[in-house]
Amino acid sequence: MFELCHLKKTYYPKKGVPVEALKGIDLKFGENGLVFILGRSGSGKSTLLNLMGGLDNVTEGEIILDGVSSETFTARDYDNYRSSYLGFIFQDYNLLPELSIEDNISLGVEVTGKKLKNIEEILKQVGLEGMEKRKPRELSGGQCQRVAIARAIAKDPKIIFADEPTGALDEETGEKILHLLKELSKEKLVIVVTHDREFAKEYGDRIIELSDGKIISDTEQTV
Ligand code: ADP
Ligand code: MG
Repeated sequence: MFELCHLKKTYYPKKGVPVEALKGIDLKFGENGLVFILGRSGSGKSTLLNLMGGLDNVTEGEIILDGVSSETFTARDYDNYRSSYLGFIFQDYNLLPELSIEDNISLGVEVTGKKLKNIEEILKQVGLEGMEKRKPRELSGGQCQRVAIARAIAKDPKIIFADEPTGALDEETGEKILHLLKELSKEKLVIVVTHDREFAKEYGDRIIELSDGKIISDTEQTV
């Protein structure tokens, strides 16, 4: 359902030489499963996630979504893709500190033009029952990440992208977050960027490794 063909990204800084961050990526993804993208700092992980998430433009190549090429996407198609099709989870949670948990989650849904349906059910799913009125500062890091996950799943996306979602958490809390993502991946495609090989081995259905803008290994050969 989701495919990358010869994807390339070159950054052109105002000063200095161009940086070839991705040098030709071919990948196919299924409907569900927990996929890890592994690689050292600078290998191109965030760039790949940003391109797949429609947050940045590709330099060359295409993304194919349910048979439709990104080459034919209008700006509006991209907006729809980002807001209805995808959910994002970041290392630093990206919550609005002044808003309650409930408002943080409902704002995430309203940008898609939908209404938040059952907050109790969603909070239960991430283990935060009864906390809808709390503010982010009244929560631990692990709980904040659960709110961010709740916000991502509340709009019922098909794909969830997470960039180093456990990067700011201690190991035990990180492990719980991965359990939660694993559970979600039974129904959705969950793509997680990390440099933590142990977590990837323990939880991943598939591990794709990047080095210097290229795929150097993939536990599932699909292309
Ligand atoms: P990772 O997430 O694996 O650490 P990135 O995707 O952030 O790697 O970066 C890949 C390469 O692209 C690195 O060499 C980085 O310096 C470069 N890069 C990333 N973003 C930019 C940018 N906006 N402008 C110029 N170079 C960039
Ligand atoms: Mg990164």
